[in-house]
This record gives sequence, structure tokens and C-alpha cells, in this order.
Amino acid sequence: MDHFLYRDGNLHAEDVAIADIAAQVGAPFYVYSSATLTRHFRLFDEALDWADHLVCYAMKANSNQAVLKLLGDLGAGMDVVSGGEYMRAKAAGIPGERIVFSGVGKTRAEMRLALEGGIRQFNIESEPEMQALSEVASSMGVTVPVTIRVNPDVDAKTHEKIATGKSENKFGIPISRAKEVYAAAAALPGLEVIGIDVHIGSQLTQLEPFGQAFEKVAELTKLLRAEGHDIRRLDLGGGLGIPYERSNDAPPLPQEFGQLAQDKVGHLGCEIEIEPGRLIAGNAGLLVSEVIYVKEGADRQFMIIDAAMNDLIRPAMYGAYHDIVPVIEPAAGVEQVKYDIVGPICESGDTFAKQRMMPPVAAGDLVAFRSAGAYGAVMASEYNSRPLIPEVLVHEDQFAVIRERPTFDEMINRDTIPSWL
Ligand SMILES: *Cc1c(COP(=O)(O)O)cnc(C)c1O
Repeated sequence: MDHFLYRDGNLHAEDVAIADIAAQVGAPFYVYSSATLTRHFRLFDEALDWADHLVCYAMKANSNQAVLKLLGDLGAGMDVVSGGEYMRAKAAGIPGERIVFSGVGKTRAEMRLALEGGIRQFNIESEPEMQALSEVASSMGVTVPVTIRVNPDVDAKTHEKIATGKSENKFGIPISRAKEVYAAAAALPGLEVIGIDVHIGSQLTQLEPFGQAFEKVAELTKLLRAEGHDIRRLDLGGGLGIPYERSNDAPPLPQEFGQLAQDKVGHLGCEIEIEPGRLIAGNAGLLVSEVIYVKEGADRQFMIIDAAMNDLIRPAMYGAYHDIVPVIEPAAGVEQVKYDIVGPICESGDTFAKQRMMPPVAAGDLVAFRSAGAYGAVMASEYNSRPLIPEVLVHEDQFAVIRERPTFDEMINRDTIPSWL
């Protein structure tokens, strides 16, 4: 569920008309709903009511400071995957004891940064990383709580570029080797082994792969406890999918995910962490764009809009589907037309949708991409020297620009010309 509905023929974000934001900010832009972000966080939080728990928002999905502050104020922790994300979380006021550090390639500098600023736990992904963290922590005279990310070799049944839980993926240690890796970790100074971490992929639309992974984690918990490890925290990762195509079956709800987790690992008495990203932010955002031209091709109509693959790369990168709707509600019974919806970038990959049925639009009309709040703005670039587009946050009848569009001068002045040129 989201808070983007037509009212009096105009698409709104909560109580604000999208057209009013466009008039002030200029297209294209991202707009997020506070109410949707809040609702989605709470759904996960309530789904884990059965355990001592922390919902660590995977901030790579949308790491705007205002989004982090909003979620942090609700009690969210953060799952970070880089030094930059760690600094962003701290800048938004998230205390170190609510930040977990994930990622396959943490550098020593990133480890030091987090150990200095405070960290809840590191999720370790390999033996060399474990060694490095032990050395860094020891050299600073601290001991840091760690979990080890296991790769359960489970098919997440999602897009291959975002599946992370099969043995051929780069993530985690093979679960079959967990016993010896945990023994090695326990022997290292500076590390306190407290739990197990698993994350099998993103945009999962079925519960079954989660169930398989959680069962393996439960078995491993018992095995490691028998080996003398005090396993008391389970990080069950993120990955729950969202309905990008409204006509398709809806993916499982956070409540069902929480129930599954309780069924599979509830009896172990562990503290539970989860790391949802997409489900919290995805349907909390729209990308709003203006139609520049409608052009007649040899055998098709192109809708050329002012947003492009640099603003939202998911269609080009994953062949992802986004619902695209007119901002002015089409009249009932209007005949739909087929468009190839494309951006202005000089690549054929800059295509958002092919042969998409839509109500007819004209140059100057606004269209909105639904489900664009996650992996949208954060994956944007300035390719073709197109400025990063603004982000706007709505709260009831108010809205605020939470990231400005840079000026051309700001973009150009990031480069420097050496004195010898
Ligand atoms: C990307 C990622 C997540 C979040 O995945 P979503 O599909 O956005 O919920 C959680 N944990 C880790 C380790 C990740 O890499």
C-alpha cells in the first residue's frame, strides 16, 4: 500500500498534488511519502514483536538524510555497506549501537571509521576479512561483536543480478565450512562472535527460499552452540519483494515474513535483526517526468520524456518493470495507446518500456513512475552531464526539497584543470 492516489483528477502524494510540486521544483524529480515510509517500517517492526529485535533499514535502497532521519526517529537501525553509508547514517543521528556493517569488501579504513564512531556489529563475509578486522580492532584495543554471513546455497528465485545466496555468488562463507570458520573466528583477538547472518537476495516474491535459508540457520545455530559458541543474535537479512506490476500476484507481506521467521528460528531464543530496504522505500517513491515529445517512428510511437536511464537505471540494468501513469487522471473509458517510453540519452538502452499501453499523452504532460523509491536516486549518475534530479519529501499537506538539483556550475567545478594544461 502507498499514499499516491488520484484526487479530483490529480495524482497526489499524501495531501499534495504532484503537479504543484512540479510547478515549484521542475521535472524530473523523485518524491517520497513519509506516511508510506513510516507504515512500511512499522509493519516490519510489528512482524517481529515476538522477539527482542531491531529492524536495520538497508540504506543502500535510499540513503537521503531526510529518509534516514525519519526512519531513525521511528527506532530503525541501519544496515550499511560502505564507509560513506556509515557516515551518512551517523550524520542523520543514528547511534552506532544501531548500525550494522555488511558487505564483501570492507577495507581496513572503513573498519577503523566504524570502530571509532561506534558500531553494533560487523557481518563478516570471509576469512581474510575476519583476519583484517581482528588486526584493526586489536590495534585499537577494542573487541567488536561479529556475526558471520553464511551462504546457504539456496535459490532465491529472483533476478540473477540480485541473487546472493547461491554457492556461485560472492557473498558469505559456504555454510558447509561454517564450523571451522567460527572456530577460527573465536580464536582471534578483537572479535566477539555473537551470531549468524544470512541474506539470500533482493526482490524475492516467494517465502519458500527464506524458509529454506532460515531452517539452515536454525540447524547451524544448534551445531555452533554445541561447539561452545554463544550464538545469541540472528541477522536474517532483507530481500522481501514489492509488487512492481500491479496486475501480478502480490508478494508476501512483512507479517508473513515475520511469522515464517518465528516458525523457523523463534524457538532458539535469539535476538533478531532484519535488513529490509526495497520494501520500506520502494513503493514510498515516485519518479515524476515531463513528456518532451511524442514522435512517430516507422512502426511505433515514441514517448520521449525528460527522465533517463541515468536517473532510474533499473529498466536498463535489470529489464525491470515500472508502472508509468499520467499525473492527470485519464477520463474513464479513454482508449489506450501503445508507446515506447524513452529518455533523451544517446543509447538505445535508455528505454523505460516497450509497447506499453497507456492513456494518450502530449508534450508537456507529466507522467509518474511508481515504485521508484528504492534503488532509484541512489543509483543515479550524471551521465550525459545531466544534473542529478531533486528529491522531495511529502508529509501530509507539506513538502520539502530534500536534495537540490545541482547547478551546471556546481557540476563543472567538481573537475579541476591541472596548471600544466
Ligand atoms: C541489499 C541488501 C539488503 C536489502 O535488500 P532489499 O532487497 O532491499 O530488502 C539487506 N542486506 C544486505 C546484506 C544487502 O546487501
